[in-house]
Amino acid sequence: MTAVALLAGAVPAGAVGNGSGGSTEARIVKGPDEVLLPVVGRFAGSTVVSGTCGREVVYEDGVPVDAASPIDVVLDPGHGGPETGSVGANGLVERDLNLIVAFHTKLALEEMGHTVALTRRRDLHMPIRQRTAIARALDPRAFVSIHHNGGAVKRSEMPGTEAFHQIDVPESQRLAGLLFEEVQAVFTGYWVPWVSTYHQGVSARLREQRTDTYGVLRMTRGIPSAIVEGLYLSNPPEAQLLALPEIQQAEGKAIATAIDRFLTTEDPGSGFKPEFYDPHTTGTGTARGCEDITYTEPVEITTGFTASEHADLLATARSMGRSVDWLIRFGVYTLKFLGDLPGAVTVVPLAEEDRPDAYGPVTESVTWDQAEQVVLVRMAEAYGLTRTEVQKLATSLMVFLANLPPTQDPA
Ligand SMILES: [Zn+2]
Repeated sequence: MTAVALLAGAVPAGAVGNGSGGSTEARIVKGPDEVLLPVVGRFAGSTVVSGTCGREVVYEDGVPVDAASPIDVVLDPGHGGPETGSVGANGLVERDLNLIVAFHTKLALEEMGHTVALTRRRDLHMPIRQRTAIARALDPRAFVSIHHNGGAVKRSEMPGTEAFHQIDVPESQRLAGLLFEEVQAVFTGYWVPWVSTYHQGVSARLREQRTDTYGVLRMTRGIPSAIVEGLYLSNPPEAQLLALPEIQQAEGKAIATAIDRFLTTEDPGSGFKPEFYDPHTTGTGTARGCEDITYTEPVEITTGFTASEHADLLATARSMGRSVDWLIRFGVYTLKFLGDLPGAVTVVPLAEEDRPDAYGPVTESVTWDQAEQVVLVRMAEAYGLTRTEVQKLATSLMVFLANLPPTQDPA
């Protein structure tokens, strides 16, 4: 009895999550509309990617990004979708401005001979963890998140440009110093009643345990990364300036020049300030409210039962007050849960004689969406089963668990 063996032998395991993603597989693919989707792994023949909301989904139709042509620079246009960032009195929205400037930067860098990718190429809700997963998958020589600031009110003689770097990473600091230098220089040529804060210049913003407050810097360690905040969109005169196409282009070129200097010289940059502790963030950049597009249509998986197995299934579902669909689905998630328990033994594919016979005369079908399919294929991979057999194993487990004597000592 397989379900009994699962419990008695503590078969499931921590290795369930790791999959078999081989190093020869593409680390990132292009999806619809050229969105970049990092590959999480391949499980039982299915490819699992991180969708634009940072959630795992099964997706087979991605176009592999050629690992043989490395990307030098990944640019991250900050915010997107319902996360607008700062908004100018003239209606200019940071989300959109960041994207326009990033396109100018990309163009200029490409003219200088560098290869460039953007985390997003259109208005798209994308959490920080997806942006950083893209950066890690592409493993560029520099990663720059492009923003514009909000909030300052103190008048300043100079533009209030800020750049942030990864704590204790000299190359990240140099990148930020060059970004500040070039972006500040391009705006200094204009006369505008600027605003600034104490943080004008280059610094590291920290939270507890001396880690970077900004997720785009914290989750990209190993890649020299920086955030550039050109001007204050919240200051109306600066918003007016930033609305001018030639200014947007000039800022984009300045960022490109800074990155080119970073890649091709040893220039140190300038504007360095002491690090400071401020763990507070805007609370944006999470996956909350983010809705993935449909990459893969739901699939229906059918499992067969003998008449007596099916009678047990119906009786168990009835006793739990649940549908058969719920019972099978819950059983698959329970398999996953057991395997993820601390101290669980490593899952190994089931021996031939333990594989459930999933082709009986009475059938039940369950429909799995692209995110749910991830659990199904991960379990199929872990146990060396087909998706049909995973459903059967899950059903046996649920029938077994539901019919345990209530007084049984779990030890
Ligand atoms: Zn921003």
